[in-house]
Amino acid sequence: MLHPNQLNFSGGPGALPQAVLQQVQESIRAVPGVGLSILGISHRSDWFAAVVAELEDNIRRLMALPASYHVLFLQGGATQQFSMLPMNLLAGGREAADYLHTGYWSGKTLPAARREGPVRVAWSGEADGFRRLPQEGEVQFAAEAPYLHYVSNETVEGLQFRRVLGRDDVPRVCDMSSDFLSAPGDYERFAMIYAHAQKNIGPAGVTVVLVKDELLKRMPEDLPGFLNYHTQAEAHSIYNTPPVFAIYVVLLVTRWLLQDIGGLSAMDAINTRKASLLYGALDESDGFYLGRAARDDRSKMNVVFNLRTPQLEARFLEAARQSGFSGLEGHRSIGGLRASIYNGLELSAVERLVEFMERFRRA
Ligand SMILES: *Cc1c(COP(=O)(O)O)cnc(C)c1O
Repeated sequence: MLHPNQLNFSGGPGALPQAVLQQVQESIRAVPGVGLSILGISHRSDWFAAVVAELEDNIRRLMALPASYHVLFLQGGATQQFSMLPMNLLAGGREAADYLHTGYWSGKTLPAARREGPVRVAWSGEADGFRRLPQEGEVQFAAEAPYLHYVSNETVEGLQFRRVLGRDDVPRVCDMSSDFLSAPGDYERFAMIYAHAQKNIGPAGVTVVLVKDELLKRMPEDLPGFLNYHTQAEAHSIYNTPPVFAIYVVLLVTRWLLQDIGGLSAMDAINTRKASLLYGALDESDGFYLGRAARDDRSKMNVVFNLRTPQLEARFLEAARQSGFSGLEGHRSIGGLRASIYNGLELSAVERLVEFMERFRRA
């Protein structure tokens, strides 16, 4: 029998690995070696400084990034980065930053950036209903842009880039909130990467920001401390009280990735298997289940699909609930169905879902 936590296909906060949940449970009573609850340990303790240091290292190791990347653990979610980035790199400038508009979440970045300075939308998928991503050569990137911003995985529409975009002479900034640490990649080609924890690597409350030192040097020093990447980098994320609990859980997830899974290539192999099982179930359903995203752009994290009518979708959700599944409803902005299969969701859960979908279709 799988526990309900193992059949949780929620889009976010997402399911966490069972092994990590067990350690979290224990740490609420007492962290091994410390003897205190994780909820009552000082952020100024040596123990916590070591947690932050190990986590910074683990993330660099997993992503094969050199020490020239600062690893920050900030609050305010990905949404705060939508503003904090242009406050630091766009405000007061005359050249427009390049932004891609590929779905719901990149759509949220545009008004936030426009408040701070000029923005050029280099490509938009809006006319196609965000069912596909731009093809190679379809976007002209501006050489003068202070930076390029895009979202690697559109969580709502289930679209994921398989390549790095943009020009090598313009800093690339990417919101990787919903596919962070899901696969290896050319991460050194990015000047800045950010991802909140609550989709793929932990609970809500902390956002990982990776900034290349070269880019940090171009940022102003005079912003308020909390919105200033310099202050945060110098303080190793302990500028004020950080979310100690959330950071600790992210540390446990990175240890799980390194020790239990064996790194990001191994994680990607599992994620690829899960995604191909689910997309296979859609493709072999004779049009009963309709995948939303263009085939080449399908996300390995969020499988978004429809049934022929909203009534049938409601019946599917009800039957799924009765069989122990949760989190399968689509995002409120587009409806339909979505199975989010983040790192923590096991292959056996996807096998169960595929069996259920087949039974439902036959019935
Ligand atoms: C969920 C999500 C967000 C929103 O993040 P918050 O932490 O709630 O601000 C931003 N970007 C992407 C890609 C997301 O999936």
